[in-house]
Amino acid sequence: MQQRQKDGIGYLTFAGLSALTGVRHGIFTRHGGVSRGPFASLNVGRVDGEAPEHVVENRRRVAAVLGGGPLVGIRQVHGRAVKVVTVQDAQDAGAGPATADALVTNVPGVLLMVQVADCQPVLLCDPVHRAVAVVHAGWRGSVVNVVAAAVRTMQDCYGSWPGDLVAGIGPSLGPCCGEFVNYRREIPETLWAFRIGPHHFDFWAVTRAQLCAAGVAPGRIETAGLCTRCRTDTFFSYRKERTTGRFAAVIGMAPEDRPEVSDGSRRTA
Ligand SMILES: [Zn+2]
Repeated sequence: MQQRQKDGIGYLTFAGLSALTGVRHGIFTRHGGVSRGPFASLNVGRVDGEAPEHVVENRRRVAAVLGGGPLVGIRQVHGRAVKVVTVQDAQDAGAGPATADALVTNVPGVLLMVQVADCQPVLLCDPVHRAVAVVHAGWRGSVVNVVAAAVRTMQDCYGSWPGDLVAGIGPSLGPCCGEFVNYRREIPETLWAFRIGPHHFDFWAVTRAQLCAAGVAPGRIETAGLCTRCRTDTFFSYRKERTTGRFAAVIGMAPEDRPEVSDGSRRTA
């Protein structure tokens, strides 16, 4: 991943997604916001004990770094529902967030966000049909294969071919810290192949395998390889800190160019 800085806010980008034109994305660190205490400082999660106005300001800053525009989040519940964001959704700021664990859109100028602290944020882009997705995949999301649901939705809604997709698996609980002492009860046997110690699992590898099984090309999947629990200097980690914030993972298609003059040269791209 590449480290970037804008307006005092640090964020990370994937090389594969950065190479695409007209795509905006970033994995934000915990720094550069207004939250205090355990939520310091760029917390975008509406968690107990946090001041709502701080979350609003932090989300505004996140969107501004990527050029602004509606920033659409979801109420995440560790399921496999995918919210398709339309022009109407983007304009209807009064409606509360949908309950889902993935967002997809092909509306230019809309930013999709998930909020995480150990769960995997997965970004997807179809550069052919100009569509994007962001997925919240904790271990429960991996068990229900929420990333495959997001790929399937892009196929159904936009005609995406999985082989065209470019994917990024963001900072999250790494194999170093992915301890599941009750794995025999919690994790289905189909995922036991990803157990790397007595009780440790590599959920980055699970997501990669699930994306590949959904048809995404292995060479188009990038893994940040950064463990949030090991890196609380940079990211929020629920396992390490318990009372903590959530950092933002965001992707969107850039706004379309406005026609400058009505001289018949209006661009349609
Ligand atoms: Zn770790």
